[in-house]
Amino acid sequence: MWHDWNVTSESRTRLERYAPTTIEPRWQQRWDEIGLDETDLSESTRPRYYLLTMYPYPSGDLHIGHWYIVTPSDAIARFRRMHGDNVFFPIGFDAFGLPAENAAIKSGGHPFTWTMQNIENMRRQFRTMGATFDWSKEVVTADPSYYRWNQWLFLKFMEAGLAYRALSAVDWCPNDGTLAREQVEGIDRHCWRCGALVEKRDLEQWFLRTTAFADELLDFTGIDWPEPIRIQQTNWIGRSEGAEIEFEVAPDGYQAGGDRLRVFTTRPDTLFGATFMVLAPEHPLVATLTHPDRRAAADAYVEQARRRTEIDRLSTDREKTGVAIGADAVNPVNGERIPIFIADYVLAGYGTGAIMAVPAHDDRDFAFAEKFGLEIRRVIAAPGVAADDPMTDAFIAHAADERLVNSGRFDGLPVDDGAKAIVAWLAEDGRAQPKVTYRLRDWLVSRQRYWGTPIPVVYCPIDGVVPVPFEDLPVRLPETVDYAGSGDNPLNHDEAFRRVDCPRCHGPARRETDTMDTFMDSSWYWFRYLSPDFDDGPVDRTMTDRWTPVDQYTGGAEHAVMHLLYSRFFTKAMADCGLVRDREPFLKLFNQGQILGADGERMSKSRGNVQDPDELVERYGADTVRLFLMFMGPWDQGGPWSPTGIGGVHRFLNRVWTLVLDPHGREAGDPDAGSLPAGESEEAARAALRSAAHKTLRDVSADYDGFRFNTMIAKLMELANTLFRYRGTAVAGSAEWDEAIRLMLLMLAPAAPHISEELWSRRMAEAGERWSSIHSQTWPEADPAAVFEATREIPVQVNGKLRDKVIVPTDASQADIEAAVLARERIVAILEGRSPDRIVVAGGGKLVNLVVR
Ligand SMILES: [Zn+2]
Ligand SMILES: [Zn+2]
Repeated sequence: MWHDWNVTSESRTRLERYAPTTIEPRWQQRWDEIGLDETDLSESTRPRYYLLTMYPYPSGDLHIGHWYIVTPSDAIARFRRMHGDNVFFPIGFDAFGLPAENAAIKSGGHPFTWTMQNIENMRRQFRTMGATFDWSKEVVTADPSYYRWNQWLFLKFMEAGLAYRALSAVDWCPNDGTLAREQVEGIDRHCWRCGALVEKRDLEQWFLRTTAFADELLDFTGIDWPEPIRIQQTNWIGRSEGAEIEFEVAPDGYQAGGDRLRVFTTRPDTLFGATFMVLAPEHPLVATLTHPDRRAAADAYVEQARRRTEIDRLSTDREKTGVAIGADAVNPVNGERIPIFIADYVLAGYGTGAIMAVPAHDDRDFAFAEKFGLEIRRVIAAPGVAADDPMTDAFIAHAADERLVNSGRFDGLPVDDGAKAIVAWLAEDGRAQPKVTYRLRDWLVSRQRYWGTPIPVVYCPIDGVVPVPFEDLPVRLPETVDYAGSGDNPLNHDEAFRRVDCPRCHGPARRETDTMDTFMDSSWYWFRYLSPDFDDGPVDRTMTDRWTPVDQYTGGAEHAVMHLLYSRFFTKAMADCGLVRDREPFLKLFNQGQILGADGERMSKSRGNVQDPDELVERYGADTVRLFLMFMGPWDQGGPWSPTGIGGVHRFLNRVWTLVLDPHGREAGDPDAGSLPAGESEEAARAALRSAAHKTLRDVSADYDGFRFNTMIAKLMELANTLFRYRGTAVAGSAEWDEAIRLMLLMLAPAAPHISEELWSRRMAEAGERWSSIHSQTWPEADPAAVFEATREIPVQVNGKLRDKVIVPTDASQADIEAAVLARERIVAILEGRSPDRIVVAGGGKLVNLVVR
């Protein structure tokens, strides 16, 4: 046997210590040498498994959060490899963007230098994790060999009408310049990056036509994504079906009336219940419609509303405020005059800035009507509700069995039919039109920054906007950049870059100096991984057809309506241009949680709450850090960083080390060495150990499959405990022991790859076999016969009261069970010589009840 192979003659009593810092770099190098991480993309005999983790921004140092993102993904990659899949697990760097540029401005260096130094450092750190990334397919987006294809795609999209230029009021951050709509956060509209309040500026900008795919983006058929992401994207696209309806302003002593107020409603079926109208205080007609008597009050209210944040204005629990402006509108369905108010719960930027208020069927309108004593008229009734039943709350259920009431000739119609009928009737004379609205806007991609992909167009005084010819790509960023007078895009001042001959008329022209939003780079990078050196186009179609959609994507949920939405858009746009086959990028998505600083805040250098993994690796080794992060809790939860418990995980690995290398315990006196538990025969113990090992295997396999790393590790710890119980006993030399050890190492291999490889190699050496990596082994299958329990325990009741338990063989018949129960001493005592009237074996043998009179 191999068990004491390591006991050298010099130190028979001392077990070699587990020394991860010696073991780990050695295996990392060895895996490199045997090409464990390199994928032959042209191989198609095994099933493919494209595993993608969101590529990092080269911020400089990997912190523990990166480890939390990457190491479980690496465990998945290793697990799938052992399952016989051809796993592709690439990595690259999202290398353009503001932080590099800001760091360069601050330090007087160049963003390229800063970025490449960071990438170098991060590559080294990724290696210390033991991550099996396929580095041979790496992409760095700031490299012209990558961004050239951003430009190429942009030109393709221009040809297809999916990229266009327009004058637009853009969101502008005083620090970061132009922002995409998705980069403006919160109702108070702050910058997603720096938090500054966002302003509006009018600029000529480039857009990508995301809205062309609005409906298709709402369809998640065929992809398995977490519900919260689907909901966020659905809400972000914000499709509402309804109608735009025109209300006329009624004439009075001060004005002729006839001004038209348009409202959008998703509930035209409630039109008869509109008993007042509300305009946003900023609505352009407020000034003309306000009655002179109401002017002072209205002006004061407008002024007050201006000082409120949108978040405050929309909050539902705040008491409703508003001012009647002394004018009426005419409800087009019944000719009734209804008063017009201004109130800050209506926002100018949403819809038309005006609403028809239906207090009976809208919560905020209800609260407003109650406060101002306005009529609340029910126009929708659920079954069993009468048209004039009083209301204490708005009724907003909207179900198929509801009917219109108090709605003239539409009474009795179901809600959806009623909505259609009312709109059709009003549409006859142009007072309504059915309308679908979307919240989604086209993606603004122009950035007034140096460190990004130059937008490949030229402005010619004769030809106007001229795309750079495909064969002239890439338009390279100039290598030198002068940030003097910063705040402005340095490319604007680079005459050598700006001055160019028009590709069409060859006369003097100027280059576009805006660069692309870096989210362009990340919208298609996984396609490029498949052929990073391909020169005939952005993607090699034979590779993308074979390898995409990506089988499993892992990354943060914070990307829901930016990267994850842009990627879906890009894939559809590329498919429309004939570049790829599929219309969805990622079949499955898993959102891991985020590791926060110990203070519960996001980890960042500026907050000083960053945990440096290098220190932990130095002290405990990468395997312990990997395992600890996976053991912390469910992977999708994350949480504040706390190293409490890392010692326990480290001890577990030490126990594995001891079990494998020293199964018999040391000489007499070793507290771990011992005899079998009292009453347990060696044969029973061996069967129990085998059963425990195979049960663990069954459960651990399922846990890896479901990314439940924490429970997977807990089960391995239990198995180690079971093994420890038999360490130093007769069982420790048995075939069952040997099998349990082998299975434990195989199960541990994806999560703690170094120690399992080390112990595996020592076993092989001991057995005189040639080394073959544990990570190239086939994942074992649990033996169902071993998992099967030999005996089971059944509770025994007498007259419905729990009195005893009996242990019977799993395959015991009813007669066997009855006999076993009646032979129990305790039951004999309770029966006092009587025989039971009935013996009920319930639940297929889960419970026995004796009925005695
Ligand atoms: Zn900003
Ligand atoms: Zn020209």
